[in-house]
Amino acid sequence: MSAIRAIFFDIGDTLLFDEPPLAERVRLAIESVGLPYDKKEMLRAFRTAEDYALSRYLEGVPFDDPGVQQECAVIILRELGLGGVSIEKLIALRDAYLKISYARSLHPQAISLVEELRRREFKVGAISDWEETLPTLLAELELADHLDALAVSAIVGVTKPDPRLFEEALRQADVTAGESIHIGDYYELDVAGARAAGMTPILFDWKGRNLDADCERVTSFEELKRYLLGLPSA
Ligand SMILES: [Mg+2]
Repeated sequence: MSAIRAIFFDIGDTLLFDEPPLAERVRLAIESVGLPYDKKEMLRAFRTAEDYALSRYLEGVPFDDPGVQQECAVIILRELGLGGVSIEKLIALRDAYLKISYARSLHPQAISLVEELRRREFKVGAISDWEETLPTLLAELELADHLDALAVSAIVGVTKPDPRLFEEALRQADVTAGESIHIGDYYELDVAGARAAGMTPILFDWKGRNLDADCERVTSFEELKRYLLGLPSA
């Protein structure tokens, strides 16, 4: 590995998080309509739905496609042994889910980490599968000014793991793939895409989805910070 001069971050679930997270909102909705379920099975059920949505995404169907969302709900209910609930309960469940509000915010240390990396002369960028609104959102969150590059799928016209999205970020930051790291939370999108572009991937696996990943893997923001701040300055 040549010396690292640039560090790129995924946005969703890497620097920017929903509170409460999606899995927690699903759990709250199921509990609010009084459906009995085995709490120990929730993570596995959610993971099964997430894997389904990811497989469809890799075929080109977005995560927020209504058909995908409906199938995810069916999978979660089935995996929790709730496959036979009445249509009235299903409607109540959907309404309860839609009523749960959530906030989207940067990790409290995201900006300070990016600032510190830039103080150490690294180029810092973001590579994200997101709508065209991401630059505005990141400006509102006061992150945009700290970035040397921002490659957004809806603007570039390709989604992860297509290497062209990653190459656009490299071009903006004026660095080569060989001197760049990309950090993201989805092995199939972030690690695969970074590798396809020739970058060094780091999997930010705080959800514990890929315990035996064949790449550098960190499981908490603290660990990610330690890793990045342990790199020799650019
Ligand atoms: Mg992500």
